[in-house]
Amino acid sequence: MKPTILLVEDEAALITLLRYNLEKEGFRLVEAHDGEEALVVAKEEQPDLILLDWMLPLLSGLHVCRQLRREPATRETPIILLTARSEETDKVRGLESGADDYITKPFSPAELLARVRAVLRRAAPMAAADELSFEDLTMDLTAHRVRRGERDLHLGPTEFRLLRHFLQQPGRVFSREQLLDAVWGRDVYVEQRTVDVHIRRLRKALNDGGLPDLIRTVRSAGYALDRPVA
Ligand code: CA
Repeated sequence: MKPTILLVEDEAALITLLRYNLEKEGFRLVEAHDGEEALVVAKEEQPDLILLDWMLPLLSGLHVCRQLRREPATRETPIILLTARSEETDKVRGLESGADDYITKPFSPAELLARVRAVLRRAAPMAAADELSFEDLTMDLTAHRVRRGERDLHLGPTEFRLLRHFLQQPGRVFSREQLLDAVWGRDVYVEQRTVDVHIRRLRKALNDGGLPDLIRTVRSAGYALDRPVA
């Protein structure tokens, strides 16, 4: 499947130039022409990468970038900011808003393509994986199927997302707040206690039949997916 790039840009000439060059290199291109449209298209298309102009009608690229980082669907999507600004402080602001890279106009298509490939390469391990696993646990992301050993597990949607998040970084301890952000999204108000409820359900589904517990509770810190303590 061709990787999809969302180009958010209001300058027609630049769109034409980038469309030609990106399609020639085997990318599928979708467009948005202002900040609000960018948010809508990003959510609909779930692109593999976003090229985001800084100076846009309606919402600035920086604002769009921050907003995309708050949405669970686009939190991990690589973003390259395109901008006429070249001040070092602007670059810092761009990266602080959550962009992965920054390219100053005017740039050559070759330069842009090199950045695009580099950013996609860095993002690839997670984006490309259609299966996550840890110990005797496997999660098929395409089929939405979870197995422990030979047994199929039946997880609710929230437990599925929680487990997926853990499986992306086994052994790492996540606080309740980090889990809320990652699984429920930063804009949703959910009590931290809710995390405990869903962890309990997940644990029950995972360890059903008296299997070793794969979820480690770290007192006053949070939870981790971890090797069972022997
Ligand atoms: Ca512009």
